[in-house]
Amino acid sequence: MYYNWKDRTNTEELKIVCNLIRNGELVIFPTETVYGIGANALDTLAVGKIFLAKGRPSDNPLIVHLADKRKIDEVADDITEVEQELIDNFMPGPFTLILKKKPIIPDVVTAGLDTVAVRIPNNIIAKGIITFSGVPIAAPSANISGRPSGTSIEDIRKELEGKVSAIVDGGKTEIGIESTVVKVVDEVPVILRPGKVTPEEIKSVCGKVSIDSKVFQRTRSTDVIYSPGMKYRHYAPETKCKILYCENELDQIFYLKKFIKEYQGNLVIIGFNEHKEKVVLDEDRFISIGRIDNLNDYAKNIYSALRKADKIRPRIIIIEGVKKEGLGFAIMNRLLKTCDYDIFER
Ligand code: AMP
Ligand code: MG
Repeated sequence: MYYNWKDRTNTEELKIVCNLIRNGELVIFPTETVYGIGANALDTLAVGKIFLAKGRPSDNPLIVHLADKRKIDEVADDITEVEQELIDNFMPGPFTLILKKKPIIPDVVTAGLDTVAVRIPNNIIAKGIITFSGVPIAAPSANISGRPSGTSIEDIRKELEGKVSAIVDGGKTEIGIESTVVKVVDEVPVILRPGKVTPEEIKSVCGKVSIDSKVFQRTRSTDVIYSPGMKYRHYAPETKCKILYCENELDQIFYLKKFIKEYQGNLVIIGFNEHKEKVVLDEDRFISIGRIDNLNDYAKNIYSALRKADKIRPRIIIIEGVKKEGLGFAIMNRLLKTCDYDIFER
């Protein structure tokens, strides 16, 4: 069933949706980051359906979504001082914390790990569904595994319809990229996946922060992997993609033109609004992502842009990269995976 809650949550429909969750069914719903495909986290069979629907490897654990901070104690144990500081400052919000798990969380959710990933979404629809379902909700991003995450229902309806019992449409998601995932190791917050909450913000709260070395690198079989999701290809369209990033804007334009020439126009550029008129290319082959100075729009639009570009079936998608600072840090982490680490830098 499709429910349109773009303007407001329908309370009658909310009851239906929450009953579905309690009965072990799957529901797609918005959060402030991306859409999630959710199930009762306490129900092994229900959670199993998520892995099936997404084609997700069973060793990649799920984030458990809670309605508020008081619920954390129900799923996690032995919270340390540093962990509590992170909870106090970044939850609710686009922030996921890996904590020691309580036995109530089934192994299927955590892929057998002794930790559980916890997040409290800051989105009125997500909050309503979690609160009135009365159970924690395990929810990865709503997309087929490996593909770009869903930031609007139009983008994912075709690939997931028929695999879930309800789709709740809350319009375009606010942030557009997934939460920052953090695990505290030896009292230091370690970023396992960058997101809207930046390293700078975490450092300003805890006085320290570290970044897992695999954030910008392919994992190797000998690596210690804190987060199983790091091993897999993510956010990728079917078309080959490449990042173009030059520190100097004139160089950037020069190389955009060079790629257009090299591919004789049979490419799609995902780029900044300001660069569209600087190159000669068919209107629909330049997908504007936002203004150069607005990385919030970049994050918000990137997954839709990738899906749109893929539909054109060009030989290549060239994506304009950004500086790895602030939100740009998370954006470049996603783009490098999208492009399978193929980047042209000057
Ligand atoms: P998503 O598919 O976008 O929901 O991604 C969830 C991310 O959190 C993946 O990268 C998972 O590997 C990671 N994750 C979930 N649970 C854990 C956990 N217990 N320990 C480490 N990473 C986790
Ligand atoms: Mg995902």
